[in-house]
Amino acid sequence: MKVICAWCEHEGKETLIGEVGLYDRPITSHGICDDHKKVLLTQIRKLKVK
Ligand SMILES: [Zn+2]
Repeated sequence: MKVICAWCEHEGKETLIGEVGLYDRPITSHGICDDHKKVLLTQIRKLKVK
């Protein structure tokens, strides 16, 4: 099972975060890459400052 970044996919990219061998099925799961994790954390911090 491939895990790709949902944010990257939205931007037309396909960042593979990792492969999970636990379920041996040809499906793709969504996660978040390190770059977008930082973006998300920055946005959350900005919201808290208000
Ligand atoms: Zn990403």
